[in-house]
Amino acid sequence: MAGAERIQHLADAVRYHRELYYNHAAPEVSDAEFDALWDELKELDPSNDVLHEVGPEPLPGTVKVEHMFPMRSLDKGVSDEDIIHFVTQSTFGGNRYLGQPKLDGSALSLEYVSGNLHRAATRGSGERGEDVTLNAKLVANVPLRLNVAVDCHVRGEVVMPLATFDEKYRDISPNPRNLCSGALRQKHGDGKADASDLIFQAYDVKFPKESPDMQNDSELLSWLQDAGIEPAPWTIFESEEPQKEMIEFTQEWGTKRASYKFEIDGIVFKLDNLSQRENLGMTAHHPRWALAWKFPSQEAFSVLLGVDWQTGRTGAVTPVARIAPQMVGGVTVENVTLHNVGEVQRLGVKIGDRVTITRRGDVIPKIIDNHGPASEEDLQNRFHADGTAFTGELLVSKIEIPNACPACGRELNMEGAFLRCIALECDARTARSLTYWCRTLEMDGIGEKLIEALLERGIVETIADLYRLNHTQISNLERMGDKSAYNALDELAKTRTLNLARFLHALGMERIGPEVATTISQHFTSLENLLRWTDEGLDEELTIIDGIGEKVAAIFREGINKRRSLIDELSSIISVTNESEASSGIFDGKSFCITGSLSRPRKEIALAIKNAGGKVVGSVSNNLDVLVAGQKAGSKLAKAESFGLEIWSEDELFGKFAEPKSGPKTLFDYDQ
Ligand SMILES: [Zn+2]
Repeated sequence: MAGAERIQHLADAVRYHRELYYNHAAPEVSDAEFDALWDELKELDPSNDVLHEVGPEPLPGTVKVEHMFPMRSLDKGVSDEDIIHFVTQSTFGGNRYLGQPKLDGSALSLEYVSGNLHRAATRGSGERGEDVTLNAKLVANVPLRLNVAVDCHVRGEVVMPLATFDEKYRDISPNPRNLCSGALRQKHGDGKADASDLIFQAYDVKFPKESPDMQNDSELLSWLQDAGIEPAPWTIFESEEPQKEMIEFTQEWGTKRASYKFEIDGIVFKLDNLSQRENLGMTAHHPRWALAWKFPSQEAFSVLLGVDWQTGRTGAVTPVARIAPQMVGGVTVENVTLHNVGEVQRLGVKIGDRVTITRRGDVIPKIIDNHGPASEEDLQNRFHADGTAFTGELLVSKIEIPNACPACGRELNMEGAFLRCIALECDARTARSLTYWCRTLEMDGIGEKLIEALLERGIVETIADLYRLNHTQISNLERMGDKSAYNALDELAKTRTLNLARFLHALGMERIGPEVATTISQHFTSLENLLRWTDEGLDEELTIIDGIGEKVAAIFREGINKRRSLIDELSSIISVTNESEASSGIFDGKSFCITGSLSRPRKEIALAIKNAGGKVVGSVSNNLDVLVAGQKAGSKLAKAESFGLEIWSEDELFGKFAEPKSGPKTLFDYDQ
């Protein structure tokens, strides 16, 4: 075939197969075959339109994106010497460096055209990633429109807050990082994690056309902030010997790391001055002006002494390993997770084996490697956290995988790599689902302790029983005074009327977070309609809703069926009000910025505004409509005042939703 003909053939083939992939989910060729077509076309005709076309909204992960600016990897370092060396070899580029925590998530490139989010892509090979626009739009702080009508490619990392990971995903994934790339690349609602649980943190921006006139990287980060993008925090080092400050900075973060809101695995140092960067240039592999410094790995050896199995709220039964006490990352560890049955089998680990454990950030330490039988010496010179000597003995046995639930004794099911107790009446699950109900509905006066006491005495068995409690029953409990009993009853009374979305969320069903609950509720509008759907058994109806995959629809139906008697009982005691269809859009077209300290998580307020049709931006400009200012609001408040913008308190914002026009809403009911 002649050149032009071949090119046309390749272009047609790429377009044809891409169409099959994402519009019909019926690929005829493998990914590798597709890549081969793509690569050949790219080689023969790099500017071919087909390579640069953007589909309408392709399903995540099915369309390749050629990065206009390759996402290169950086030179790596792990020691103080590496920092000294980096500064020495780049210092003629100036004495001013910038440092940012190296976030451990998934890299993302956001392409804006005239300030509108046009496309989002994963890093992929660095040259070519995957189109994940659909899911990137769900990430809470990714603006669909910037405050500036400019073309730019914003680079950053999507991460999952560790608090969210602990609350929702610990049962299903070993770490937040795995969930991040999964959530970006998944098809609608069928992945493990919701993209709306992710946060974007920017570290770079490139301009395909003209760029704003700036000397330093730090100015670009400020520019991003004004444009409405949240950069990862940065620090400038510009003393005579910046390497000293930089080394101290790594030590500071080494300590702060364990309590930081995201997982980080090091610090990225960059020369701040952009033209000096150009002068330094690249080696064959990486730019000379940057260093990705990683924390020394927090790994250590210990001995596996035993395994306890625990049942979680979703019924997952997970193995927790007891090990000989071992310091890792400055903390003495005696319990580590083995994650699930699949992991126990993969490691082939036995009690009495010598194991490698690792601890990163805030996350529970885990066993990552097995070295076979330990010796007596492996147990010597070990101390508990309180300084007393460890005296345990070396026992050798297989890890017994339980047949019965450790909490309720019922038979367990195997689901993939997980053991699961499917009994809803399971003690472990009951305690946790009661706690979840109360926490989701923000009943501060009813905590874990009170729930345990009520369960222990048999006063309460189900969520419905909570609403049958009387004053004497509560005040008779240990450490519960008259006042706290009234308080608990008050808080229960407040939740006797709930709208559907809030009700579904609080039931704590697997995979049904606040957003999915809202979507489902807006579809069915009433509990009655929803129960009719569950009875009829048609999954198709639910999968036509944007964001709900077949798998989630099936899990949801099963969750409702399992809880049917509870739902019937509850709805006879409390009133579940109807959900209005989709948002009424009282904030249609309005832009909001949120600042200061507020009584609710910022993400929750942002979501409420978005659900009402408003947009949330990261900074104040004179075309902003409303600044929502909490306590201790600083420069943004001053700026908004100087522009004469409208400024609302949190209460005033809430007040807008309470106005009759908006009808019953779920807007503020999110517990993230
Ligand atoms: Zn059980």
